[in-house]
Amino acid sequence: MSAKSLAILGSTGSIGKQSLDVCRKCGYGVKALTAYSSEKEMENQAREFNPEVVALVDEKAARELKTRLADTDIKVLSGVEGVCECAVLSGADTVLNSIVGMAGLKPTLEAIRAKKKIALANKETLVAGGKLVMAEAEKNGVQILPVDSEHSAIFQCLQGKPSNRALKKIILTASGGPFFGKTAQELKNVTVENALKHPNWSMGAKITIDSATMMNKGLELIEAVWLFSVKPEDIEIVVHRESIVHSAVEYDDNSVIAQLGLPDMRIPIQYALTYPERFESPAGELSLSQIGRLSFFEPDYDTFKCINICKNAINKGGLCTAAVNSANEQANLMFRQGKIGFLDIAEKVEEVLECTAYRDEYTFDDVMEVDRFAREYVMR
Ligand code: NAD
Ligand code: MG
Repeated sequence: MSAKSLAILGSTGSIGKQSLDVCRKCGYGVKALTAYSSEKEMENQAREFNPEVVALVDEKAARELKTRLADTDIKVLSGVEGVCECAVLSGADTVLNSIVGMAGLKPTLEAIRAKKKIALANKETLVAGGKLVMAEAEKNGVQILPVDSEHSAIFQCLQGKPSNRALKKIILTASGGPFFGKTAQELKNVTVENALKHPNWSMGAKITIDSATMMNKGLELIEAVWLFSVKPEDIEIVVHRESIVHSAVEYDDNSVIAQLGLPDMRIPIQYALTYPERFESPAGELSLSQIGRLSFFEPDYDTFKCINICKNAINKGGLCTAAVNSANEQANLMFRQGKIGFLDIAEKVEEVLECTAYRDEYTFDDVMEVDRFAREYVMR
């Protein structure tokens, strides 16, 4: 059943803003909004959408927002707890999580426990704690609807799948990012500015750097393993420069079904909210004759080492993917701050993976401990 009212976590970000655009178009009620610190933007969003409650993680920004919204009856909360309260307590039936990073894990788990439907953009939630999230979703009978464009594509291609056995493999497409075709030698001295120039998508800074290292595709492989209960070896990554084929599935009869569209996140965001229905979208129409050509290549695994690091992590299992995710969050940040080089990102993440012990059973606190360890390791 499609969503009726939403709590949007990370509403000031790239996905958050596009989600609000979908709400404008589809007329969904917005019951809660959260962000890290942008009080001015949050004030504007709150005045337009009139939610019951808003939260900012940063205490000072939250105090400022409270003053700004004093003439309204919108409740203003602060801190991680405030974000979790927004996920749980508002009258929303669906929580759209577009927080960046594993900071999204706790609110996701709490929203599932409150039996909210989850529209998930925050892939790091599944990379860091996929086992915890999927177990909690099953226990509470909660559906997790993918927002990530590739996973939305796979989900769409799986509609009408005849049986559990019919799926042969998933074909996960990747744009290849701004450094497609470059050698490791050429990537040694690339600048943050170079890495932030994505050819097809306009996104937040962290995921744009993840696309340049192709860590994004590794994280998405892990995300697909959890969302679709497939083995890592049943996922084939294909570089597709035009970002028109958003991913595909191959069935036992060798029939391949793909989902296509212009690279506009409002299509997958809207599908996660309207599923199983479809409505008119604010996104543009695809003209295949105008696109002309679609190209596909095998990834260069030697240059873009992050993909295989992620494969190794999910094959090792346990807390290894959490370690890789947190090491990457820290290394990605330090690259953006000019503290380490582009190629150091993969190197640091690999080192953290090598010294992470496999553990099958783990809790949320164990994930947080691995997070601290991984970040400290990358910083030293
Ligand atoms: P962004 O940086 O533009 O926005 C992130 C949002 O999260 C902001 O509202 C910010 O205030 C909030 N936030 C940041 N740190 C936080 C914290 N510690 N606690 C709570 N809130 C915090 O990011 P984005 O590009 O919109 O990406 C969001 C998520 O969606 C990521 O997981 C990303 O991988 C995924 N995603 C993004 C795109 C895209 O096109 N941007 C596509 C697919 C998936
Ligand atoms: Mg994606």
